[in-house]
Amino acid sequence: RAKAKGRATYQFFESSLAETAYADIVLEDELAQGLTRNEFELFFQPQVEATTGQLSGAEALLRWRHPKRGLLSPDAFIFVAERHRLMLPLGEWVLREAAATARRWREQGLTQGHGAMRIAVNLSRMQFNLEGFADTVKRVLADSGAKGQWLELELTERMLIDDITHAPATLAQLRQLGLTVSVDDFGTGYTSLAHLTELPLDKLKIDQGFVVRLPDDVGAQAITRAIVQMAVGLGLTVTAEGVRTVAQWQLLASWGCQQFQGELVGVPMSASEFETWVRAR
Ligand code: C2E
Ligand code: MG
Ligand code: MG
Ligand code: MG
Repeated sequence: RAKAKGRATYQFFESSLAETAYADIVLEDELAQGLTRNEFELFFQPQVEATTGQLSGAEALLRWRHPKRGLLSPDAFIFVAERHRLMLPLGEWVLREAAATARRWREQGLTQGHGAMRIAVNLSRMQFNLEGFADTVKRVLADSGAKGQWLELELTERMLIDDITHAPATLAQLRQLGLTVSVDDFGTGYTSLAHLTELPLDKLKIDQGFVVRLPDDVGAQAITRAIVQMAVGLGLTVTAEGVRTVAQWQLLASWGCQQFQGELVGVPMSASEFETWVRAR
């Protein structure tokens, strides 16, 4: 019997499912360590105004300087952080780092003559759905001496739908603190624009999956143009993400898209690279 059981156990651990689970546990452990060892870093990708060319802001994109595997992008670890609730302390670290950076840039005079230059922070569902999220933001602002006007929060459509009872009040609180609220990756979820009109929002970010198919793809053209025109009609600012070519920029701008983010403007950069980039403008 012992032998049979031993074999069963062995087979269990041999399965790829078990391997994945094990890799997740290792990653979870490393993530927690990484947080205490300061291995996380924010990269910044510029966003510019179509009409003036001024910097409207920069999106903060999380990176992990893993001691063995080098610089990791969020796609390599965020899903594990979310599953194990590590996303809460990690997400709060991102907020604090963004607030501290926004303040430092103002102290250094980096933002002078460069438009609003807000730092946009991506939120995870877990963070936003947590009771008292707006209070957390308020505390972070107070601790870091940053103004709400210096920050923007990016939410996904999913987060707004899943939390339909709390979302409107939380969004209103955040905007009262001066923050800009935007919907990220718009067009990929299930929200209708009609639904969005009931929420206090400032901005829509067009998903790069549509932008990348411009200017030639007729389907992407129809969808993107409709989203831009309706959003503008509703008084929302529209940012296109993943803009790689002048042709994409021109087409989007002709429909009324006001802000651009993507390789054409600038790739995500470390804080010091970004600061050099801004000074050179
Ligand atoms: P996102 O919020 O949609 O961010 C845009 C992603 O597209 C970034 O990838 C950015 O580097 C990439 N991108 C933008 N323009 C271009 C372009 O022109 N060409 C190419 N090739 N890529 C472009 P990244 O940094 O790998 O982030 C992936 C996703 O991870 C983000 O998608 C966001 O959902 C999530 N994420 C990033 N930072 C955080 C964070 O601090 N917290 C949370 N919860 N999620 C984050
Ligand atoms: Mg984003
Ligand atoms: Mg996006
Ligand atoms: Mg995305």
